[in-house]
Amino acid sequence: MIPYGRQAIDEEDIRAVIEALASDWLTTGPKVEEFEKALADYVGVNYAVAVSSGTAALHCAMYAVGIGPGDEVIVPAMTFAATANSAIYQGGVPVFADVEGETLLLDPQSVEAHITTKTKAVVAVDYAGQPCDYDALREICGKHGLVLVADGCHALGGEYKGRKVGSLADLTVFSFHPVKHITTGEGGAIMTNSEELYSRLRLFRNHGMTSDFRQRAEAGSWYYEIVDLGYNYRITDIQCALGCSQLKKLPEFLKRRREIAGRYDAFFADIPEVNPLSVQAAVQHAYHLYVVRIDLDALALDRKTLFKQMRDKGVEVNVHYIPVHLHPYYRKRFGLGPGLCPVAEAAYERIVSLPVCPRLTDGEVQYVMNALQEVARTPT
Ligand SMILES: *Cc1c(COP(=O)(O)O)cnc(C)c1O
Repeated sequence: MIPYGRQAIDEEDIRAVIEALASDWLTTGPKVEEFEKALADYVGVNYAVAVSSGTAALHCAMYAVGIGPGDEVIVPAMTFAATANSAIYQGGVPVFADVEGETLLLDPQSVEAHITTKTKAVVAVDYAGQPCDYDALREICGKHGLVLVADGCHALGGEYKGRKVGSLADLTVFSFHPVKHITTGEGGAIMTNSEELYSRLRLFRNHGMTSDFRQRAEAGSWYYEIVDLGYNYRITDIQCALGCSQLKKLPEFLKRRREIAGRYDAFFADIPEVNPLSVQAAVQHAYHLYVVRIDLDALALDRKTLFKQMRDKGVEVNVHYIPVHLHPYYRKRFGLGPGLCPVAEAAYERIVSLPVCPRLTDGEVQYVMNALQEVARTPT
């Protein structure tokens, strides 16, 4: 199988992990801080807080911005469920806005249409690795006094008007799951310029405690206070050693992802049944995903058949995502269903994600393109 997304780990990464294992600190140690500083420097913000997953990072973000019972958080329908779930963890209510058909990015007009007196925050998702229209979103949030959070889990290394994802919203969340740009096994981080948000994030990550184990060890003190309800969302030094080593290779990984996307773009330009998503002029795309829209009417083929035929050919295609409000939990709990976000729902029927991870060879990329052309053009 040609994987749609898979980690790229080398000997240097493995050595870094072994060193961490042999060190004094397996968790709350110096590697966590080193990784946080490297991340903050890379995206150009003052603070990063590394945590145990991207989902934990989203939960920390919802806590830090003060989401509580009844608060509404506007999220796009086209995202991974964790974006919306994190609002619910804090007692908030996710409100689904629609996306734009050409990019599947959060539609600022739909955001504005969903604002009520209970709205507290907007979570922008840089779908597939393309940054959202942050100028428009910041303007709306500013006008209505809302916090702007970015779910940048697809977009580490992406840029909007020359600024890196991570520096475009009040808080930005990343994931280091193995299919993402860099990995720590499981892991995530939250980026911010706000010192106040930074200290709230750190508190929430560690049980709501005023100090961590290392701080107490260094101060020779046993005393701490629980000042709020927090969780254990810590990440280990073993993971952060891997993260530091991976981050050094991010430019290389991004270059390869963009090369592969460029090949797909050129090839599919001549195949009218296969339409890649549009890329806006103001952005540098990070290509976590390469998503095409299949013209199923022209093909007289359903997506399920196309999906199966591609997998039978050894290509691990995928679908990102089932619109969140269509999941049974959301339908039941919030009384949602089809018709709420028509653009996302229509797009869902015909999107397919193609393999785009850095370790793909040119031969594999060519194989994927030929396979899709063959499936798309074979009469059924
Ligand atoms: C991967 C991902 C997450 C969750 O990250 P985990 O590290 O798997 O918890 C959240 N949002 C989006 C958009 C993602 O792609």
